[in-house]
Amino acid sequence: MRILLVEDEPDVRMAISRSLREDGYAVDEADNGVDGLTKAKWWEYDAIILDVMLPRMDGLKMLAALREKINTPVLILSARDSLNNRIQGLDSGADDYLVKPFSMAELLARLRALIRRSNGNADPILRYEDITLDLTSKKVTKGETPVDLTAREYSIFELLMVNRGALFTRAKIYEHLVDEDDSSMSNVVEVHMLRIRKKLGRDIITTRRGLGYMIDG
Ligand code: CA
Repeated sequence: MRILLVEDEPDVRMAISRSLREDGYAVDEADNGVDGLTKAKWWEYDAIILDVMLPRMDGLKMLAALREKINTPVLILSARDSLNNRIQGLDSGADDYLVKPFSMAELLARLRALIRRSNGNADPILRYEDITLDLTSKKVTKGETPVDLTAREYSIFELLMVNRGALFTRAKIYEHLVDEDDSSMSNVVEVHMLRIRKKLGRDIITTRRGLGYMIDG
C-alpha cells in the first residue's frame, strides 16, 4: 500500500513516515498543500494523511480541490480540536479525523481501518479458498499452517486480496508498492509472484496474459 503524507512540520513528518515504512507502507511526502495536491492527482494512493495547517494551500482547501476528481480515502490530522474543525474536515470529504498529539499506534490502526473500509472489507480477516490474511497482524495462513512471506511478497498479496476482483497490471502493482524514494532493484513483480505462488498455491493468483494479475472476486 502506498500512502501520501502531507505535513509541513519536519519532525512530525519524519516520525510518521518512519512508522509507516516500518509497518510496510510505501510513503510519498509533501510539505505543503500545492505539492500535496499535485502528487495526489498524479499517483493512485491507497490513502492520504493530510495535516490541516499547511503552507501555500491549507489541508481543507486541498481536500476540497482533490474531491472534485478523486475519492482516495483521507485521514485529516489537526492540532485544532474544536468541534467546528472536525465538522469542517468531514464536510470537506475527509474519511476520518485525528487530533494532535496522537499515538502512532492509533494512526496506524485508523489507517488500516480506513483502507479496509474504502475497499468494502468490514472484517480485518480476509479469506480466499484455504488462505487467510489478517490485515492487523499481517499474518497469512494456508489451511492451518502459517506461511512465511517476505515484506514485499506480503505487500503484493495484500494488495490483491484487499482489492479482490480487480486486475492489477505490473505498472499498477509498482505504483501501489514503490514510493518515489525507492530505487531498489528488488521489485521485479514476476519474481515475487512466482514466490508467492510457490508458498500459497499456483492457482490463488490468476494471470490475465498481457494484462496483469488478480485474485478472483
Ligand atoms: Ca501543520
